[in-house]
Amino acid sequence: MSARETAELLLQAGRLVQAEGYDGKLSPAQWMALRYFARANPFSRTPSAFAEFQATTRGTASQAIKALEAGGYLVRQRSKADGRSISLRLTDKGKEALARDPFEVLVRAVDTLDAKQRTAMHHALHQVLTTLAAIGTHRRFGVCQDCCNLTSANPSAPECLLLGVPIQPEDAGLLCVHFQPTSEHRDGTVNEWTTAICRKEC
Ligand code: SF4
Repeated sequence: MSARETAELLLQAGRLVQAEGYDGKLSPAQWMALRYFARANPFSRTPSAFAEFQATTRGTASQAIKALEAGGYLVRQRSKADGRSISLRLTDKGKEALARDPFEVLVRAVDTLDAKQRTAMHHALHQVLTTLAAIGTHRRFGVCQDCCNLTSANPSAPECLLLGVPIQPEDAGLLCVHFQPTSEHRDGTVNEWTTAICRKEC
């Protein structure tokens, strides 16, 4: 199978899930925002981080966020860290809505693959996204365990070298806007954006 055919299959899967997203009271963009804020770590629950995740403008991202706030699915709070920045979290209504997320169609389809196929697909898609981030201007989101900023000095008390904070166990598997994949450093494909963000020796 050619690279083009495989890329077209990826696009087709995305389109089908997008079409499913018109079910219910929320639009695909609102579902995406709800999903994002359920999966984002405490450093990434901001409108600008969501705009980065969606590779869209701050204005477009804000429209989806405002609609979710008006509908009672999301609530904004001042950041506990600095008291100035905004942090968005799901309300109980938002969590209930997520239980009927149309995206689950794709999750179930992936779940029909055996463990070996799922692992191979996970690694392949991880690599494709890292390559896209390295040649483009959009951030690559990921989790602590795959990030070069995670210190392994004390495995029982992991810390983020970039942000200088301990990583709570419940946050370790959540998406981060500051993520930088270790593979970028191994491959020597660090782009300008990630170079600016990750100034540490990884
Ligand atoms: S280790 Fe990486 S993914 Fe985890 S909080 Fe720090 S920058 Fe984000």
